[in-house]
Amino acid sequence: MNVTDRITAVPGIGAKTAQEFERLGIHTLMDMILSAPRGYDDRRDERTLRDTSQEDPTISCRITVLSHSEFPSKRGRTLKVSVEDDDGTPLELLCFNRPFLKGQLRIGTSWYIVATVQRYKGRYSTASFEIKRTKEEAGIGSILPVYPLSGELTEKTMRKASAFALSVLSPLPDELPYALYDRLSLMHHCDAYKAIHYPKTLEEAAEAKKTLAFTELLLLELKALRDKKPIEKRKSKPSKREITLLKSLPFQLTPDQERCLEEIREDLDAENAMSRLLQGDVGSGKTLVAWLSAVHMIDSGGQVAFMAPTELLARQHAEGAAELLSPIGIRIAFLTGNVKGEGRKLLLKSLKDGDTDLVIGTHALFSEDVEFRNLKYAIIDEQHRFGVQQRDALRRKGINPNVLSMSATPIPRTLALTFFADLDVSTIRTMPSGRIPIKTYLVKEDSREKMFSAINVEFMRGHQAYFVYPRIDDEGESDLKDVTTMYEKLKDIFPGVPSALIHSKLPEEEKMSILRSFREKRIKYLVATSVVEVGIDIPDATCIVIEHADRFGLAALHQLRGRVGRSTLPSYCFLVFGKNLSEDAKARLRVMHETTDGFRIAEKDLEIRGPGEMTGDKQSGFLKLRFASITESPELVEKAREEAERIIKEDRGLIKAENAVLRNALRI
Ligand code: ADP
Ligand code: MG
Repeated sequence: MNVTDRITAVPGIGAKTAQEFERLGIHTLMDMILSAPRGYDDRRDERTLRDTSQEDPTISCRITVLSHSEFPSKRGRTLKVSVEDDDGTPLELLCFNRPFLKGQLRIGTSWYIVATVQRYKGRYSTASFEIKRTKEEAGIGSILPVYPLSGELTEKTMRKASAFALSVLSPLPDELPYALYDRLSLMHHCDAYKAIHYPKTLEEAAEAKKTLAFTELLLLELKALRDKKPIEKRKSKPSKREITLLKSLPFQLTPDQERCLEEIREDLDAENAMSRLLQGDVGSGKTLVAWLSAVHMIDSGGQVAFMAPTELLARQHAEGAAELLSPIGIRIAFLTGNVKGEGRKLLLKSLKDGDTDLVIGTHALFSEDVEFRNLKYAIIDEQHRFGVQQRDALRRKGINPNVLSMSATPIPRTLALTFFADLDVSTIRTMPSGRIPIKTYLVKEDSREKMFSAINVEFMRGHQAYFVYPRIDDEGESDLKDVTTMYEKLKDIFPGVPSALIHSKLPEEEKMSILRSFREKRIKYLVATSVVEVGIDIPDATCIVIEHADRFGLAALHQLRGRVGRSTLPSYCFLVFGKNLSEDAKARLRVMHETTDGFRIAEKDLEIRGPGEMTGDKQSGFLKLRFASITESPELVEKAREEAERIIKEDRGLIKAENAVLRNALRI
């Protein structure tokens, strides 16, 4: 018998039950061992009726049978067995569908019971109980594992399988270098497996979990770090034109911007290509860092491509770049799918000849006909909007170019460390000074009046607003408000206030012209779908109303809210919600109400959604952590990273004898 045997090796588990196990991903005995319980049923102490409370109405103790009777129920007459525990407290067992208990629970005999009881008018009863002959059978005096179940499977069957699998487990070789066990006070793996299923104490269970989780994380980190090419850092200096640009700004870089710029500059000057994520909240000034680093690259002779997720945003960036970078002599081009004919030909030629330094555009940048003379640096704005393939397509336009991904939806550090371990991360934590935090209100759908009057006051002050709805028109799900209908309704609510409707189905030109009017204040408010989500920058817009806010994800809500609060004016976000919210939706709204910190929000998002959803990589085996939870124990993730870095630094090839076990575990 061996742990690699199929689960049917467990006595009493046949082909049919095995199918249920397979649904849980358990094929072999070892799979069973690797399936951590989701919790424990602590039956160490006998609990009599006297020990029960509202919070914990369970008992596990000895009882003695006093008498039998019957009571009328929906299904006719049901057996009732009166018993008492060793303290002499009476209890009634309501034996629905268990008439056989009459023969078994003979008067005067003693049994062990595990039950959840009810108390009514001072009397205890239970319909949910297990009766066993001995203490051991009832599991009293031990801690029992509680597993996730599937179909017909019961805890009893799962426990039988795990106990059997563990009995077959023979001592395992160490999975970690010897010194680590001591230093981090880890358990040996064989003991850890036993203890995670059948711990003697809850502390022991936690120890076991720590060992197994740490091992898993360490291997994950080692794998990522080995795949990553080390970058030889040199101190880098800003180029002449970078300095000129800096001097022309009406403000100074924040310390975070400076540090990030330095990190990027060092990478750009180094031998190996950069692969870096620049993260910072909406409006924290990432774009400026990107432009400065672009100038650095251009001054050392490379071309730069800047890719944005929408034409609108690309255009806004191109305008900004023209204003900042043209004066210092950077040659800029703008390319989207809508740039056609002679203009496109000329533009492509100038890219190919190297007469353009910086091209800004949408995914059209990696169309087949686009060729660069010397693309050295690709910058990707709002990277989460692009798929891996699109990012790679842009990368292929150059010879192993440096890549900077920018994101206003920060990735929590633990997630970055585990799943993006091959990426370096620069973070802008603090905002440029003078920003006032946005005030967020949660508004019940049927009490929107006050909100409308508050917005009216803002209009009178000369400020502007966004109204966001999840749908374009009223087809399909009729309970959701749509922009088209609401556009008309809002006209009645704000009579005479000029407004415009904007959504993804409008032609680009029309969107641009609406935004121009909005910027120039000829339009007071926009009625929009989430097309306004990304990047739009209108300083005098101080209010945003998001209806059916419960329908939006946290990242989208945060982005949408970031449309306001972009100047020194106080600003407001109204999240309107309906009835029957799911628990997750409530949690999301609560987070939005509590904080405007994108990093906090990202962490909460991770807690609510789990890492698989956040990385968009739910299926990948790489993400399948069996014991570790990056939300539960971020310290362990940090610890594993630290150890992995140390090991790789000392022994990159893992060729030292003490690291042989790691090489083995990683199958290299
Ligand atoms: P992000 O791209 O991170 O969302 P932006 O680059 O759009 O943020 O910056 C938002 C605004 O802040 C821009 O108008 C920009 O000019 C301004 N800004 C950038 N850095 C600073 C700074 N250090 N001090 C003051 N304002 C800044
Ligand atoms: Mg931005």
